Amino acid sequence: MLHEFTRSPRIAYFSMEIALASDIPTYAGGLGVLAGDTLRSAADLALHMVGVTLVSRAGYFDQKIDSIGRQIEAPQTWEPSDHAKPVCAKVSVQIERRTVWIGAWLYPIKGLGGAEVPVIMLDTDLPENNVEDREITHFLYGHDAAYRLKQEIVLGVGGIRMLQALGFEITKHHMNEGHSALLGMELLHRHSYHQRDLRPGEALYDLPVVRSKCIFTTHTPVEAGQDKFDYAMVNRIADGEFMDLREVRKLAGDDTLNMTRLALNLSDYVNGVAKCHAEVSQRMFPGYHVHAITNGVHPHTWTSEFFATLYDNHMPGWRHEPEQLVRIDQVADNAIWDAHKNAKQQLLDRVKETTGKTLDPTLPTFGFARRMTAYKRPDLIFTDLERLRSIAKKQPFQLVMAGKAHPYDTNGKQLIKILHDHLRELSDDISVVYMPGYNMNLALELVSGVDVWLNTPLRPLEASGTSGMKAAFNGVPSLSVLDGWWLEGCIEGVTGWAVGNSIVGNESNDVQDFYSKLENIVLPLYYTDRAGWIALMKGSIGRNASVFNTHRMIRRYATEAYML
Ligand SMILES: *Cc1c(COP(=O)(O)O)cnc(C)c1O
Repeated sequence: MLHEFTRSPRIAYFSMEIALASDIPTYAGGLGVLAGDTLRSAADLALHMVGVTLVSRAGYFDQKIDSIGRQIEAPQTWEPSDHAKPVCAKVSVQIERRTVWIGAWLYPIKGLGGAEVPVIMLDTDLPENNVEDREITHFLYGHDAAYRLKQEIVLGVGGIRMLQALGFEITKHHMNEGHSALLGMELLHRHSYHQRDLRPGEALYDLPVVRSKCIFTTHTPVEAGQDKFDYAMVNRIADGEFMDLREVRKLAGDDTLNMTRLALNLSDYVNGVAKCHAEVSQRMFPGYHVHAITNGVHPHTWTSEFFATLYDNHMPGWRHEPEQLVRIDQVADNAIWDAHKNAKQQLLDRVKETTGKTLDPTLPTFGFARRMTAYKRPDLIFTDLERLRSIAKKQPFQLVMAGKAHPYDTNGKQLIKILHDHLRELSDDISVVYMPGYNMNLALELVSGVDVWLNTPLRPLEASGTSGMKAAFNGVPSLSVLDGWWLEGCIEGVTGWAVGNSIVGNESNDVQDFYSKLENIVLPLYYTDRAGWIALMKGSIGRNASVFNTHRMIRRYATEAYML
């Protein structure tokens, strides 16, 4: 079963979360969806890659929302044997000076041409381990820092050992975010040699060789977002066979073990996930060269059946070569509008089924869905409810929202509560619905079923953002703050509209600009110029979907990082 994957060398792609399928809850948000889309594109293009992640048996969490807008969380346990095959290898790592055994599951991602990319899901829930250690791979982003460090040892060190035990030959190790950076320590350990005049336990490391095998993609534009562990804890938990703590301090920082710093020092190739994010990262990490490879989304996964059929009829081959979507101009307006109407009705049916609310298919419908956390500012559009009401009185519209807040993010949970308060306050004038349980399925229905996709993050904190790219594949333009990918994707009035300016630290105008664009440009276009509106839909498909996809992205990784 595995030998077909180990016959030729592969790129190993390490990620704490990978969204394999909507109902496999091993993802929390954009990072995991990006990882899944990356591997799905690799499979479509028959690139030799292998994914490595944790099995996260207890998932992220299942979200319900009570009658006053409080998020209710429950574990979202899934059964790996329903979806994946066990592999026969077992490896071990030392954690708190105990031996922790690691098994694995194989999940093959099948590409559209038939090629497969294997994903190895590491699992410590084995009878050999004590109760506590069996839980290490249960909760995605759960518990405390000590738990997280143990997970990162399993992912990085355990991941390398598992790949070797299974017979993989790895040419490059791609770290999707810093969580897996301990893999570099394991590689260093393998590229060390001992000399007679060194003290016992001291070794020399071949750092250049390790660096030539590692690639690091950073996703966090702020210092506070980086994973850091204090050395007292590291000593207690990780002083095992793979970690020379003096060497770690040299590479990961003297005061705390900073996983971003470690990944930077262990990788020859480092990149940010959009041009602006790479510049921000470059300023944060002077002395390193930060390249830019802008994120994308997987074409087939993020196109509704209605648009997929339309593309198949007019641009067969778009799933392999999404650049063909530049020819969308050749498609008749009414075919575009019909496809969109069908996707919109599907969303409204889902809204009715979930919330009991009937939305009006003739009204312009706005969508906002993403992780609920402060920097995403989901409440920005509700800053002035009177203004919103007066806009809707003349040109009615409706709004569909969704998103989970991390269980420990009290601000994020408070935001969900506040959104529900607004939703009730506005109920006589504007229909606003909040859909619980945001996942990939709901995301697709939202990005394809609304008329305009909203994004209002605080600059420069949206490293890339990808949901607006998903919208573009469905002919849905964005009305968005100029941050992340939108700085590259926004052509005013052609692919959507900008909110505010692009200057960091100057967000005072964002709210007013949002209201005035809504009132004077977006709604009038929708109500008075159908052909103009469809031109905008074509603009987002032809100019954005054709570019902001993971096929283009992974081809760039292949030629600029993997083949170095
Ligand atoms: C695409 C996606 C995200 C990321 O969306 P952003 O706009 O980048 O925040 C998060 N969660 C789910 C379920 C998604 O499908």
